[in-house]
Order: sequence, then C-alpha cells, then structure tokens
Amino acid sequence: MESFGELKVALLCRGIKLGVNIDRGRKGGAGPAGGRYIILPSGRCVNAAMWGRFVEKSPYVLVERDEKFYVIKEDGEKVSEVGLVPYPQFYRKCTSNGTPMWKVALLHGTDCLATTVFQKCIYWSKGLGCKFCGIELSLKYGKTILLKKAREFREVVDAAVGEGVCKHITLTTGTPGTPDKGANLLAEIVREVKNHYEIPIHVQLEPPNDLRYIEELADAGADTVGVHIETFDKKIFREVCPGKGRIGMEKFYETWARCVELFGECQVSTYVIVGLGEGVESVLKGSEKAAEIGVIPYIVPLRPIIGTPFENRSPPSPEKLTYIYREVAQILRDYGIDPRKNLAGCVRCGACSALTEAYENNL
Ligand code: SF4
Repeated sequence: MESFGELKVALLCRGIKLGVNIDRGRKGGAGPAGGRYIILPSGRCVNAAMWGRFVEKSPYVLVERDEKFYVIKEDGEKVSEVGLVPYPQFYRKCTSNGTPMWKVALLHGTDCLATTVFQKCIYWSKGLGCKFCGIELSLKYGKTILLKKAREFREVVDAAVGEGVCKHITLTTGTPGTPDKGANLLAEIVREVKNHYEIPIHVQLEPPNDLRYIEELADAGADTVGVHIETFDKKIFREVCPGKGRIGMEKFYETWARCVELFGECQVSTYVIVGLGEGVESVLKGSEKAAEIGVIPYIVPLRPIIGTPFENRSPPSPEKLTYIYREVAQILRDYGIDPRKNLAGCVRCGACSALTEAYENNL
C-alpha cells in the first residue's frame, strides 16, 4: 500500500471487519450507509463499510491499539494506525418534543451534520426504487423519523454547533410525490438554519419538474447542491433506477446547467456510482460532460446495503476505482474544477470518495 489514498480506496471497496467491540454504525439508510468514519494518518476521513456480505471477505480487520487509537491489519500484518470519529455528545440528547437527536440527524465524516429530511420515496411505494438504495430501511428499523421538521432540526444544529462538530450541513431527501421533488421541505430547513447561523448548507434532490424550485433553494440560502444521476449509462440508469430513470438524462443536464448559474462552478455535484454494471468509458465520458458545465462527478464505489436488491453485489476492485479516480481527477484539472473549493456537503466532506485525494495526486 503506497499511499493513504490507496488505503482509503481499499477500505471504500472492501470494507473492514471488526476485531474490537465497537458499534458498526447504521445498517440501512440513504446514501453509503453501513459503516463508521475512520481517520487516516493523512488526516482524511473514510466512510469504511462494516455491514454487508462483501465485508465478510475483506482482508482488513480493525483492532484496538489503546483506548484512543486503532490499528488496521491486513492478513494479520499491521497496515496503519488510525483514529475513529467518536459518536458526538448530542446523540445522548433529545429535542424539545422528546425525539432522540440521533434520530433527527447524524454526524458524517468529522464535521458534517447530515439528515434525510423525508425518509420515504415515491418510487419505493411503486416498487421502482433504485436497487442500491436503503432509504426506507432505517425507518423500518426504527433508527430515524419520517419527516424532519425545520425547528427540530435546528435544535440539533444548536447542540452540534455547541459541541463544535458541525462546520457544514448535508440535507438529502427521498422523493415525495410532489412536483418540487422535496425542494420545499429542504428550503424550509435551509431558511430556519440560515436565520440563526452562517453555516454552509448542501442540498440533494432529483431534478424537480420546474427549475424555479432550484431557484427557491438558492433564494433560501443553500450553498451547494447535489442532483444525482448515479450512472451515465442510459440502459443501466433505467434498469437500476426504474423510477428515477424515467426522468431521462437530458433533464439532469438541464438542471445542472441552471444549478451552476445559481450556485457557481464547483458548487454543483452528482453522485456517480461505480459498480452498477457500467463500462469505464461511460464513467469517464459522462464525467467529462459534467465537468464541462462545471459539475463535479462525485465518484463513489457501489455500497451493497443489506436489505436492498443489490445486497449481494460486490463493490468494484480498488485497482479499477483507483484508475477511474486518477482519470476523473485529470478531467477536473483540465476543466479547472477544484473539488476543494466546494463549500458544503459530500464533496467537502469527502468520506465516501477519494476524488480529492486523486485531484491532489495523493492517490
Ligand atoms: S460524503 Fe456525504 S454521504 Fe458520505 S459521509 Fe460525507 S456527507 Fe455523508
């Protein structure tokens, strides 16, 4: 293992088994769930999977060095000493209406307060959910609440800021059956937080029917936005995202272009999942088209989540993903897109991707 960037990619793709008794994090939920945040000696954070069938085959084991530090071992050999992001104090608190704060929002990475504002999705209700997505599982497991209200979320921000663990915020949402696709719910929370804090906020949603809903998010004060196409392969998009895939890819380019006008270059991103069956060429060509209009293709490996149709899939190999990161990083440099300029959310957090490490030639 040459670099911590390579170790990060390996942990993202393989996950890590536990040789120590610690909580493994949330099993289900939106985004790359099923893990804990490990701090590498580089200071960077990685969302290392600890749940999932693929993890059982991982060569990596986390063992305890002392009460503060851990050691990653590979086939019994020490690979690196690491830290583990501790659960914040606010997890022990409740909001004014008695909801445990960890059911309202979670600490992502080292300093990002994140929540899924609406924990259901219209496509799930029609059996058309994205096959890698576990959004409603954490609700089913009683690990969260359906709708995060603006005031309640702001109380969690108060606690997290008070504790010094909230430097930026990620607000994502399942898609409600409304034309705004969740923009109104997101905007309400953005306004509530911005009325009390100058904390950068990232919002994520699928393209709304009308782009005025994106303008509403910008007016509310959101700083960055994620509109996730998941894959640039048209056929796989329709197969793997049977509901969202009906929107068509053109709508994503149209929405991205308007987002870049409103939020600026480097402030708009899309998740691009590697490991859905796509070819490397489609990832690189699509990433170039996105970068061309100022959008950051946030490359992440498939995270097979227990309870989803893709639970038995395997993430891509670290070698394949490393090649893609290096190629996409060069594309970003060619178009003058610097992921380190991103103000809030996943690109800034970086725990689920090694794109920034590749951009900095640390991979
Ligand atoms: S990159 Fe995004 S989803 Fe991943 S831990 Fe950070 S904020 Fe959460």
